[in-house]
Amino acid sequence: MYHTYLIKYGEIGIKGNNRHVFEDALAKQIRLKLQHIRGEFQIRKERGRVYVECGGDWDEEETIDALTHIFGIVGICPVHTYELGDISALRKDIVEYMNKEHPSSSQSFKVKARRVNKEYYLQSMEIDAELGEAILEACPSMRVDVHNPDILLELEIRDRIYVYSKVIRGPGGMPVGSNGSAMLCLSGGIDSPVAGWMIAKRGVKIDAVYFHAPPYTSERAKQKVVDLAKKVAAYAGPIRLHVVNFTDIQLAIYDTCPHEELTVIMRRYMMRIAEHFANKDQDLAIITGESIGQVASQTMQSLITTNAVVSLPVYRPLVGFDKSEIVEIAKKIDTYETSILPYEDCCTIFVARHPVTKPVLEIIERSEAKLKGQIEELVETAIRTTETFTCK
Ligand code: ATP
Ligand code: MG
Repeated sequence: MYHTYLIKYGEIGIKGNNRHVFEDALAKQIRLKLQHIRGEFQIRKERGRVYVECGGDWDEEETIDALTHIFGIVGICPVHTYELGDISALRKDIVEYMNKEHPSSSQSFKVKARRVNKEYYLQSMEIDAELGEAILEACPSMRVDVHNPDILLELEIRDRIYVYSKVIRGPGGMPVGSNGSAMLCLSGGIDSPVAGWMIAKRGVKIDAVYFHAPPYTSERAKQKVVDLAKKVAAYAGPIRLHVVNFTDIQLAIYDTCPHEELTVIMRRYMMRIAEHFANKDQDLAIITGESIGQVASQTMQSLITTNAVVSLPVYRPLVGFDKSEIVEIAKKIDTYETSILPYEDCCTIFVARHPVTKPVLEIIERSEAKLKGQIEELVETAIRTTETFTCK
């Protein structure tokens, strides 16, 4: 059983003077995450490395699962530690390590030692050579390959000796909290949870808004969105979800505007209300799951008309993705199975048979103007009756 994990992080290593800010954010996210699972954990930051030390009643699988949900982590290396001894002790240790971790291997390898403890009497290169030789003696079917080894065996000489060669992949990105926050338009579909996940991956904290239309959309459809928010929260941290009652606005649009423009006008009201809550939550952008051309309301012309009603930037991380590429990510982050549950959403009910695919902004604005006098109060009521809760 391992007791120590070395956490490898990518981009946050190259942030110059800001580096410690990112390391602190990462350590904080690790601490927060591990708080909720069994065991006692110590997070240690040391010269460009973060270590997680596990104790008490901890479970390996649960711990690794928690760590693979933390943005900023590129790799998780299970570490064996040994007492600091002379080179003959080290040679024995390394052979024991190989027998445990790579038994009867015939792969190529390379030893790479880092002498952090400068008092150690041998230099890194000398340690590499000694240990390479010890491994070749003990495992004759292995060979050295310094350029492209199958197994990179890394050692750190510190107060003890740390040895690792396995890397469990983390999600990459940047620790949540190292950037600002953004408002995700979260529907029950496949795309928007993925879009939220992608922006959260860049260190952005996520708030969310869902438009529901009872009785046309069911409680189960709403629960599905809550469940999706929880799935994204497993990576992004707690998500504040605003559930907006959108029925009366949709009915007013349905009664007043040309039916082929329904979706575009409805999307414009969603964006306006999303921006209201974004400003309230001090978010710096709105996120949607749109991708060019996926449906009529996502043509480039349609995107102009929905963008036109907000002044915050709209992040559409999936804009250039095919559906199959989005599905692949949805499966990886475990939102897919929930997203495909067959509960209707509010767009599918009020959708026209032949929606405009190339809406013209002036025409849409003219149609929308007919709502004047009734829509203001409906929007105000929708905002006032919005329910907000935290999904985690
Ligand atoms: P998704 O799979 O995310 O539902 P979609 O392909 O169904 O997307 P649309 O219904 O056109 O596409 O919606 C485009 C985007 O608008 C969604 O990705 C989401 O960000 C937002 N959106 C749509 N419906 C809702 C809703 N009911 N509540 C909140 N946001 C919504
Ligand atoms: Mg949808």
